[in-house]
Amino acid sequence: MGELEEFRKETEAWLDANCPPSMRWSETPGTNPALNDDLAWGGRKATYPNPEVKQWLDLMAEKGWTAPTWPQAYGGGGLSKAEAKILSEEMRRLRIKPPLVGFGLTMIGPLLLEYGSEEQKLRFLNEVCRGEIRWCQGYSEPDAGSDLASLRTRAILDGDEWVVNGQKVWTSYADLSDWMFCLVRTDPDVRKQEGITFLLFDMESPGVSVKPIELISGYSPFCETFLEDVRVPKDQVVGGVNNGWTMAKALLGHERSMISEAFHEREESNQLVDLADKYIGRDVHGRLADATIRDRIAQLTMNKACLDLTLRRSKEAAKQGQQPGPESSIFKYYATELNKDRTALALNVLGPQALGWEGDGFDAAELQATRSWLRARGNSIEGGTSEVQLNIIAKRVLGLPD
Ligand SMILES: Cc1cc2nc3c(=O)[nH]c(=O)nc-3n(C[C@H](O)[C@H](O)[C@H](O)COP(=O)(O)OP(=O)(O)OC[C@H]3O[C@@H](n4cnc5c(N)ncnc54)[C@H](O)[C@@H]3O)c2cc1C
Repeated sequence: MGELEEFRKETEAWLDANCPPSMRWSETPGTNPALNDDLAWGGRKATYPNPEVKQWLDLMAEKGWTAPTWPQAYGGGGLSKAEAKILSEEMRRLRIKPPLVGFGLTMIGPLLLEYGSEEQKLRFLNEVCRGEIRWCQGYSEPDAGSDLASLRTRAILDGDEWVVNGQKVWTSYADLSDWMFCLVRTDPDVRKQEGITFLLFDMESPGVSVKPIELISGYSPFCETFLEDVRVPKDQVVGGVNNGWTMAKALLGHERSMISEAFHEREESNQLVDLADKYIGRDVHGRLADATIRDRIAQLTMNKACLDLTLRRSKEAAKQGQQPGPESSIFKYYATELNKDRTALALNVLGPQALGWEGDGFDAAELQATRSWLRARGNSIEGGTSEVQLNIIAKRVLGLPD
């Protein structure tokens, strides 16, 4: 037996023997809990009402499998790309939930691996892998969203510390996070992209205050973050002073890949067929009774298969360790637009049962369908809107004139 086959056998046996029952997705399509149910985001403020979530996190962290390809010195598993692929295939096959999620693993971690100092890597990556630190992203400001380089949060050097003043907005989960990675203006007198620095700071630093933004749904996934004379040690800059725009773009590449990956190889087309079976039924030929819905499901299934295959091909073509470039905008755009189509189609299938928000008369899956449809619109805004992705593709992938 080859080494990789041996690795697959051992991995499967270990996962099957060690993964607690509640850390496996349900077998029944359409009944998976919401994505953030029973998933560990880690950090100082994390609570674990289900102890198996923490047990699974600790077991996987011990093996380095919360970040399988990161070096072992930084808390990762040191797996090759081929081994990591096997691990992820076996987890999917056994319907095992990820032991840890969050911006540490998908955004700031990969950036630090490439641009962080050795000290930053040893400190922060180990904490990320063990689920001891939760990060939030301080990019957007009230007047700097798509035009991010216009940001005005100011940092001025005072001895060995930066003093930061300004405001961030739409900071997802700032109230639950321990540290922020943040873009600040360190030189106002140069071209706007050239005067930006990428800083890390503890959310418990004096001068940081966070105000959750309540949405019409009643939830508060976002916050406004106010920074008033926040003192940040000089060595918490990543990638060099006034080099923040390069860091910002590199991190957005990781963020966009992460958003498109989230839709990769999910089994949603089957779930749409199950839904259509339940709400529309079959005709005498055994086909879904509504021809338009049938066509739309078929088209969506083909588009999803094209996305999956293209993503897989591009991952395999990427050289070992290669970071995502502007091409990540193609996947981010396509995956999030496709997700909007899918969730809209699910509402069409549900008909009047898609009109529920809460209360009697609607089951949990119906209520979830309505919320997923609304949330899908956020996917095409976060990490840069679809229009902005099209601009990037036009300029930086296709080389069209500005
Ligand atoms: C779910 C979610 C989570 C988020 N989490 C975070 C977070 O954790 N941290 C953070 O910093 N930010 C976060 N954001 C903010 C997000 O990055 C911004 O909302 C996004 O970049 C758009 O900025 P804006 O809201 O200011 O819209 P604007 O930039 O004002 O855009 C308004 C509209 O104009 C269009 N537009 C703007 N410029 C152009 C152009 N040049 N060409 C064509 N069309 C254009 C846009 O596409 C959009 O439709 C989050 C947003 C969402 C929805």
